[in-house]
Amino acid sequence: MRVQRLKRLLLFGPYVAFLVAIVLVIILGALLIRQDQRIDVLEEELGHLTMNQNSLIEKVSSVDSSVDELKSAVGAISNELSLVDISAYDREEKGIVRTAWPKKVYLTFDDGPSPNTSKILDILDEYGVKASFFVVGTDNPEYRKLYKRIVDEGHTLCMHSYSHRYNEIYSSVDAFTKDLDRISDLIYEETGERPVYYRFPGGSSNSVSRIPMSDFIEVLDERGITYFDWNVVAGDATNPMLPAEQIVENSLCDLNEFEEAMILFHDLSNKTSTVEALPEIIEAIQEKDIPIEPIDENTMIIQHYTNTH
Ligand SMILES: [Zn+2]
Repeated sequence: MRVQRLKRLLLFGPYVAFLVAIVLVIILGALLIRQDQRIDVLEEELGHLTMNQNSLIEKVSSVDSSVDELKSAVGAISNELSLVDISAYDREEKGIVRTAWPKKVYLTFDDGPSPNTSKILDILDEYGVKASFFVVGTDNPEYRKLYKRIVDEGHTLCMHSYSHRYNEIYSSVDAFTKDLDRISDLIYEETGERPVYYRFPGGSSNSVSRIPMSDFIEVLDERGITYFDWNVVAGDATNPMLPAEQIVENSLCDLNEFEEAMILFHDLSNKTSTVEALPEIIEAIQEKDIPIEPIDENTMIIQHYTNTH
C-alpha cells in the first residue's frame, strides 16, 4: 500500500506542482494587472493634480497682478485725496494757503436798467469794484442815461436782448436778429460804443426756444459777439423776493467750485434784497483777496450751450 501511494505521488507529484505553479502564476499575474491599474489611476490622479496646480499658479499670478493694479489705483486715489485735502480746507496752521477759491469773481447783473441800478452802481463805487451789466432796452429817458453811467464808471455794458420777451426773440432767427440789432443800436446811441457781449434771456441752455440755439449763436458769431452764461446763481430771480441773507449764502457757497466764478444777479425794481445783500458779498470776496473784475476779452468763456442740446 505504501509503495503504491509512493508511486502515485511520484506520478502525480509533478502535475500537482505544475498546477500549483500555474495557479500561482495566474494569481501573481492578476495581482500584477491590478497593481498596473492602480498605477494608471494614480498616474491619472497625479495628472489632474498637476493640472490643478498649474491653474492654481495661474490664478495666484492673476490675483497678484490684480493686487498690483489695486495698489496703484489706491496710490492714485490717495494722491488725489491729498491734493483735495490741501486745496479744500484751510491749513493756515501749516502755512498752506487755501487754493480752492476762484482766481477771479465776476458780478453780473441782468435785466436792468431799473430803479436799483444807481444803488448798485453806488455800492460798487464804494468798494472800488467793477462789474458787468446785461441790460435790456427801455424807452424811459432816465433809465437810458444809466447805460452811459455804467460805461463811464468802468463797468462792462453787455446786451440781454431789447424786449426780453422769449416768445418774440426765439420765434425766428430773423426776430432774434432784429431784437439784437435794436439793443446794440440803442447802446451805441447812448454810449458811443458797440457792445460785444450778450447773454441770452433764460441762458443759452433755455428750454423755451423751439429753434436750435446754435442758429442764434451763429448770428452772434457773425457779428463778433461773445455770449456768457453764469456758473453761480444768487437765486434772486425767485418770487417772492429772497431774503438778503439767503442771497449772500447762495452767492458765496459755490464760489470755490470754479476757477473763475460768474455770479448771476438781477437788477430789477422788485429785487431790493439783491442791493441789500451786495455789500456783504463784496466784503466776503475781498476778504479772501480774490479780484472782482468786469468781463473783458481775457474772461474765461462760461457757456451752458453744448451741441448735444
Ligand atoms: Zn433776464
